[in-house]
Amino acid sequence: MNILRIFLMAAVAFLVGSKAIGASQPNILYIMTDDHAAHAISAYGSRVNVTPGMDRLAKEGMRFDHCYAVNSICTPSRATILTGKYSHINGTPVFNRFDGSQPTVAKYLQSAGYHTGMIGKWHLGSDPTGFDYWSILPGQGLYFDPAFIDKNGRKVIKGYATSIITDLAIDFLRERPKDKPFFLMCHHKAPHRPWDPEPKYREQFASKKIPEPATLRDDYATRSDAIKECNQKVFTDMNRRDLKLEPPAELKGASRAEWLSAKPTEVETVIDGKPVKLTGAALDSWKYQRYMQDYLACVQSVDDSVGRLLDFLDVEHLATNTIVIYTSDQGFFLGDHGLYDKRFMYEPSIQMPFIVRWPGHIKAGSVQSSLAINVDFAPTFMDVAGLKVPTDMQGASLLPLFRGKKPSSWRTGFYYRYYHDPGDHNTRAHYGIRTDTHKLIHYWKKNQWELFDLTHDPDEMHNIYADPAQKRTVEELKKQLFRLKKELKEQDQFAEQQPPPGV
Ligand code: CA
Repeated sequence: MNILRIFLMAAVAFLVGSKAIGASQPNILYIMTDDHAAHAISAYGSRVNVTPGMDRLAKEGMRFDHCYAVNSICTPSRATILTGKYSHINGTPVFNRFDGSQPTVAKYLQSAGYHTGMIGKWHLGSDPTGFDYWSILPGQGLYFDPAFIDKNGRKVIKGYATSIITDLAIDFLRERPKDKPFFLMCHHKAPHRPWDPEPKYREQFASKKIPEPATLRDDYATRSDAIKECNQKVFTDMNRRDLKLEPPAELKGASRAEWLSAKPTEVETVIDGKPVKLTGAALDSWKYQRYMQDYLACVQSVDDSVGRLLDFLDVEHLATNTIVIYTSDQGFFLGDHGLYDKRFMYEPSIQMPFIVRWPGHIKAGSVQSSLAINVDFAPTFMDVAGLKVPTDMQGASLLPLFRGKKPSSWRTGFYYRYYHDPGDHNTRAHYGIRTDTHKLIHYWKKNQWELFDLTHDPDEMHNIYADPAQKRTVEELKKQLFRLKKELKEQDQFAEQQPPPGV
């Protein structure tokens, strides 16, 4: 009798254990774009476009309103997402090669029995590790007829990058081993510069008049020299290639490239059938429109991709046991503060869209306002897979927030650092802290500071660092900032980090 009981208990334990390891582990579909700002998603209240695919995800899942990149450029954000570590720990503070021999969440999930895949833009300088299948764009990749690299070499696939990446993602899901959970990173190139849209959306957006952001003509009064000196301004730094101006037919080779890279101060174009020469304020407005029309047209194809992937999960009966995340490697200035690109610690640049759906676990249509950072993604994937979060990961699992329960010990501020100085856009290196209510930024090479009260000045137009009334706030924030640096083992080894030549 006792032997029978022991046998039965062992059998039950085996079955429960098997269930925990196998069928109950959720699939993870991680969709990430490049440079897609949250304020170009209608679920985030966009004034400039409508994104039904992403809105569907938000309606059926949770929208994070305060998710941030801790170093707002492509390669470092990707390294952080894979490792759960800040740039100074994972060794990728700028566009340098990622050391793929280090532990990553893909490797942990693969070891735990996940079928792992990485498709699309990788941009880490080394081959992917920890993936059963990968097919990536070399470097930045192309929008049209892009080459892809996989374990077997390089091949060109005809078509538009966003559609091809979606096709490859669906192929991966269709051909996956059905007895394993999957972890798929589907990384789009869009809507990264040079913003080359699919023809159908280029045409659709060419006739649209995009509303201008309130801060487009920011005069930078009260701000540091960094924003004044940077070369990421829509009105003065967009070149003819960005603006999709056609070079004269006779220009070839280097002269053609030179013409395209010049920043025009007058443009001859056709408006309402009439040839016009644009200069001054009229040209400024026109540049903003040209930029946003193409950027938003690129987003529209990404939105189609999200819709297609969600439809595929439905058809294959995978929706229930699959966590779907939509995010971007960082945000982007959409003319906010007169800028394009990212890098700065201002909200439009560091905020990542983050929408997550997990039926039965996440309340449909919910909104999360706690501070999340891209360092949290890897710990979150570990946690949802039922794995122990490695102690050297520096983020926290978002799982309690998915369930609508904010732990009492949850962060009230996070550390940010941008190293790529001067970089392509002459943007000064800086670090700082963002709390639930304030932001303190230090441009250490200039020894200039900025302080913003995010409750009363969400657009970050008024630097109040020098205001005597803020003295105590500044002192308290500095204490928090330097405590965070210490906790994160940030020892300034990259303080003078320069981008490698040619980047
Ligand atoms: Ca990016």
